[in-house]
Amino acid sequence: MMNKEKLMEHAESLEEKELEWERQGQLLARFYEAGQDVTPPTNFADAFRPTDRILRCIDERTKGGLPLAGSGILLGRKEAFRIAREMQVGAVTSHEGCGAAKMAVERFNGVTPDSVVERHAKEWSIMLAKELGVHYAGHLDVAPHFHNARVAYYDASGSFDWSRVKDLPAGFRISRKYLPPDYAKTEIGLAVSIARGIHGYGSIIPLRDERNSKFILAAIGGKEELPRMVEELKSVAAKYYGSVIIKTLQIPH
Ligand SMILES: [Zn+2]
Repeated sequence: MMNKEKLMEHAESLEEKELEWERQGQLLARFYEAGQDVTPPTNFADAFRPTDRILRCIDERTKGGLPLAGSGILLGRKEAFRIAREMQVGAVTSHEGCGAAKMAVERFNGVTPDSVVERHAKEWSIMLAKELGVHYAGHLDVAPHFHNARVAYYDASGSFDWSRVKDLPAGFRISRKYLPPDYAKTEIGLAVSIARGIHGYGSIIPLRDERNSKFILAAIGGKEELPRMVEELKSVAAKYYGSVIIKTLQIPH
């Protein structure tokens, strides 16, 4: 009985992933056009007007506020505290099904049950909030239950939020403004591996048109800083054997 239920759930989720892939495809069309520069959607400037200073994950399902993978769980206490202070974080969250928390726990423990990862994610954020002297804003629910992002935004502004512009696809957000470059690469790599793995679209990707199925790393920066950001992204993209492409979006004046 258990097995049958599990199998059915799996089939349902594949169908859900296929539908979401198609829906995202429309939003991603501008990113798959020829050339590296993406034509920004209307009201692109609205993406740079943050609504709050609550620390969230880089996960595309924890939109808004300020992003750090697992609210900084991969950084260690001292560095997370330093960066969160610089970001002027006003509160800290954790969330269910956090890939960064899983990575942080499993690099010490090996394969670990989800319930243990959830507890670590919460404990980390509660501890960081306490050290910062701000409040813990709760363990967020996420939807859908899988990662639907096909893009990771690498943001030099420190304020980018795709969810404020309706024509931008959901994506991971990696803050180049606040992160040491080497560590930013860890977050970008995490985003790519989550998105292309079992918790993302996984097995359906190779069945899709190759040109329009590559994962997108989108650098968001000023005209002068974009070439350097592209170079930084290239070093991460190289690890994924041509399944990742790099695009740029210029911050509006
Ligand atoms: Zn997370």
